[in-house]
Amino acid sequence: MPIRVLPPEVASRIAAGEVIERPASAVKELVENSLDAGAAEIRIDVREGGRRLIRVVDDGIGIPTTEASLAFERHATSKLTSSDDLEHIATLGFRGEALASIASVAQVTLLTRHADEAVGTQIRVDGGHLVSQEAKGAPPGTAIVVENLFYNVPARLKFLRQPATESSHIAATVRNFALAFPERRFSLTSDGRLVFRSTGSGRLEDVLVKVYGLEKARQMVAIEHGESSNAARVAGFVSLPSLSRSNRNQIDLFLNRRHIQDRALTFAVTEAYRNRLMVGRYPVAVVLIDMDPSLVDVNVHPAKAEVRFQDERGVFRAVQKAIVATLTEHAPAPEIRPDAVTWAVPAWAERRQALLAAGQGLQQQMDLTSPPAAPDWASLPQRDDSTHANEESPAAALAAVPAEQNGIAQRATSSESAPAADGNFEQQAADILPMLRVVGQMGATFIVAEGPEGMYLVDQHAAHERILFEQMMAQQAAHSVPQQAMLEPIVFEAGTVHGGLLAAFAEELTATGFGVEPFGSDTWLVRSVPAVYARVDPRRALEEVLEGIADGRDLVGDTREAALTAVICKRAAIKGGQVLSLEEMRQLVRQLEACQNPGSCPHGRPTMLVLSTAQLEREFGRRG
Ligand code: ADP
Ligand code: MG
Repeated sequence: MPIRVLPPEVASRIAAGEVIERPASAVKELVENSLDAGAAEIRIDVREGGRRLIRVVDDGIGIPTTEASLAFERHATSKLTSSDDLEHIATLGFRGEALASIASVAQVTLLTRHADEAVGTQIRVDGGHLVSQEAKGAPPGTAIVVENLFYNVPARLKFLRQPATESSHIAATVRNFALAFPERRFSLTSDGRLVFRSTGSGRLEDVLVKVYGLEKARQMVAIEHGESSNAARVAGFVSLPSLSRSNRNQIDLFLNRRHIQDRALTFAVTEAYRNRLMVGRYPVAVVLIDMDPSLVDVNVHPAKAEVRFQDERGVFRAVQKAIVATLTEHAPAPEIRPDAVTWAVPAWAERRQALLAAGQGLQQQMDLTSPPAAPDWASLPQRDDSTHANEESPAAALAAVPAEQNGIAQRATSSESAPAADGNFEQQAADILPMLRVVGQMGATFIVAEGPEGMYLVDQHAAHERILFEQMMAQQAAHSVPQQAMLEPIVFEAGTVHGGLLAAFAEELTATGFGVEPFGSDTWLVRSVPAVYARVDPRRALEEVLEGIADGRDLVGDTREAALTAVICKRAAIKGGQVLSLEEMRQLVRQLEACQNPGSCPHGRPTMLVLSTAQLEREFGRRG
């Protein structure tokens, strides 16, 4: 094909795609404009995850009538006049691209009145073409309605996720603005439901409570900025070690009030927690960095999400130092007394996890298709629940699920039929396993066992959570999650709070085995539940899971599916306080040994602790 210059329409849609990737990006650009306009209150409404409609209403300065249509021109901005201004950008926008981009891929209505003018202006633009402009009465400020985003870019439309997922991106965007601008009032409604609201009190603490809930906000402390380094001034809030997550998603960084992504700075935050959090646990943090705009380039990323620092190391050090100082003051690192009796997470469990992770690249195929090889709970001798189902006890429920129902996938590989020596790493990992000999049960909660390193205590609940989690994740990867189908669908009256959660998590609930579908306002039909819930009242199972989501504490994991699975497993696992037979304990320990990551439950708590033989000997005076 000969080289041709693209027609302007095509070129502008391509350019739009770089700035406006999804509905949340449009929300971000519109809110930035409202903030730049000095708005004190910003109201955001979206419908169908922002695809159908995004409305942003502000009480900012407004746009003068003579300039209103210019706002939609590409590279039209009131925020920059010369390229010198690029050296020290103090506004959130500066490229004059956002409105033009949005208008080229949607139907946009702008209603605005400048503070100094008596009458406002209404402008309609459709797919980049001006449709109408008229004088119209309006309160001071600006209201922009974006309808049918991407209606003329089918490739982009296909790429969008379910409305609930897009909504959650939008909610995250709005929350980040609220954190960066505590003195402004934000509200977000999604399909008429209030999702988020900040008060505009000017106190970051108040926003933290809105974003994370009181319980978590209480476990966060203000960053002591100490002497402000000339590179950067650091403020914000970080979690005490009592509050942690299994991923870095709740480390939010802001540069001059702009939410940014920066791997190095994220690392600076996690480094500050070294020795304060268990391996694999990460803090919750809102880190506000302020610095002279001329020392940073914000013009390196289409969506302005990444920045380049002139003195990156200086900023890194400032962040790390401020957080370490904060933590030292509020949560001194525990001193290790060398002679104290210490229970430890067995070293082999961590070695094994590392080995398996190293082998993952080679073994991915295997890992996806074969769940941990082990006998499963379904094959345990049944206890006295054959006569009456004990709905209170998931363990009994598990044990009593007929094998055919309880997961074809997990039965496909029992320890006998598992292919031997699947690969170097797996073999090595298997060699690391000590054979634990079960001695007995303590407090109906801990399994006491003997291993080569010494004496083991296994938390039966945490261990079972880990086992179920790995089984379910393997089943999901193989798209064969065993379900328990209802004879008749159950009508589930969710109420507004749980209804909202159901809508937001419908996709993931389906992936984990809950067959749910909407059935009128806040009412849902339940057609199936995950097989691990086979003997639990399905209504209660769903309620428990929704409570788990609402609680949020257990909602950890690298994906929403994994997070939800962790919630399900927590609810389905045998509880502490349940007496187990020796055979049941042996089965549990065998299955735990077969896990990829046997040392901790999906929420990062240890499944087992070991007291070394050497320590025991010392304590009993048998050895110096
Ligand atoms: P930029 O923000 O980079 O200047 P935009 O395309 O986002 O580019 O907006 C273009 C111009 O339209 C802005 O420079 C501003 O003058 C005006 N504008 C957009 N939204 C608003 C608003 N909510 N209130 C006041 N002016 C606005
Ligand atoms: Mg802008």
